[in-house]
Amino acid sequence: MNQVRTRMAPSPTGEMHVGSMATLLKNYAFAKRNGGQFLLRIEDTDKEREVAGGVQAIQDIIRRYGLDWDEGPGKEGEYGPYIQSQRLDIYKREVQSLIDNDKAYYCFCSKERLAEVKETQIASKQPPHYDRHCLNIDKEEAKRRVSNGEDYVIRLKVPANQEITFTDLLRGEITFNSNLIDDQVLLKSDGYPTYHLGVVIDDHLMKITHIMRGEEWISSTPKHVLLYQAFGWELPVFAHIPVFLNPDGKGKMSKRKGMVSAASFLDRGYLPEAMLNFFMILGWARKNQEEVMTLEDYINEFDPSDLSSNSVAFDIVKLNWLNGVYIRKLSLEQLEEKITPFVPVTFPKEKLAAVLPLIQERLVTLGDFEILTKFFYGDLNYETDLLLKKAESKELVIKQLETAIGAINSLKSWSLVDLETSIHTLQEKNDWHRGQFFMMLRLAVTGEKATPPLFETMFVIGKDLIIKRLEEALNKLN
Ligand code: GLU
Repeated sequence: MNQVRTRMAPSPTGEMHVGSMATLLKNYAFAKRNGGQFLLRIEDTDKEREVAGGVQAIQDIIRRYGLDWDEGPGKEGEYGPYIQSQRLDIYKREVQSLIDNDKAYYCFCSKERLAEVKETQIASKQPPHYDRHCLNIDKEEAKRRVSNGEDYVIRLKVPANQEITFTDLLRGEITFNSNLIDDQVLLKSDGYPTYHLGVVIDDHLMKITHIMRGEEWISSTPKHVLLYQAFGWELPVFAHIPVFLNPDGKGKMSKRKGMVSAASFLDRGYLPEAMLNFFMILGWARKNQEEVMTLEDYINEFDPSDLSSNSVAFDIVKLNWLNGVYIRKLSLEQLEEKITPFVPVTFPKEKLAAVLPLIQERLVTLGDFEILTKFFYGDLNYETDLLLKKAESKELVIKQLETAIGAINSLKSWSLVDLETSIHTLQEKNDWHRGQFFMMLRLAVTGEKATPPLFETMFVIGKDLIIKRLEEALNKLN
């Protein structure tokens, strides 16, 4: 068998979708598993839809996920260039062979004419299609018109009423009737190929053996098969990967229901390793059913024929769980490095190292840092009534606060052990209800009902701020 070569062929028309990143991972892993190559090709032939900086953004996001390509932009291999806009002469050359072999033809129809044809077809309830007006223009005549500077496109001559069959690795045989396929434009009037032409020529010339792409391309595949046949080229293996559904399982994952770009997850503090692990287990299970796995495990085990053709929900609960698993695996040094971009400028940096061990367990994403640590430095904001919860009287709480302030003020040194001992002694000596007292204290010093362990937290907040907050609580009650 040929050397396995897979590819991802994104268009720079917007931010890369998480679904595309998941598909990219499959292509990457499959190539690695077989000792082959994974290529990155930029399909930038739709200049109207291209976004500024899009080509670079694609490369950046793939690398932020910790992945890389063997051939592609910046890594020129034997089959470059890998950016379609730099391959226009190749498309021209290849499409000429289709014309020479009567598999394609020049079309000089104006936009206005095409619009009229379409309108008439719709009015008579026909599916809109090109009416083959230019199909029979003599080749020499067409060449003359072209050299006279007339605008033209090149169209595929789709054979009538032919069954077009291809095998999809996940779905088996798929057949379309060619009557359903329009005479596709292959080369546009601006000299750029359409997606269909570019993708087929490049996948062939770049010796791609396996095409794994989103299932939204299934309906394009018969057009590609026709092109492979027209060129007389061998078909690669196709696998169309199901799209993700929204986390609620309803409908294709869409912006309307939350984040969808691959970058937005990292920007929110999901770790690339957790994202990749999540992509691995969506729609595919390991033989041993273990869900936490490394990229290396995946490369050793992943086989696209085991993928299900059913769409799966983007299970955010599972992703959150996995992200927590990966965050807890980090050493404190690693955590500090990764979380730094999420630390607000107002956060007192000198407390960072002490805070991290207190919150590591509770972080679902790195982006939770701010919310989990606000009380270490910011102003508190809680309802006064909460201080009185489970207390016999307001007077008792006032007394508890005053006594605690006194005890903390008289601590000789600021150490966790002394702090803890002194507060525990207070509670025991006065026989205060433990739950009530500690909950009140927690609320007064953090403004929250749930925090990391109370004394560690108080210790990191620091003596002055603790006293200030206990006094503020007293003021609220007086
Ligand atoms: N340029 C297409 C895209 O943006 C590539 C589709 C394919 O993989 O064939 O997704």
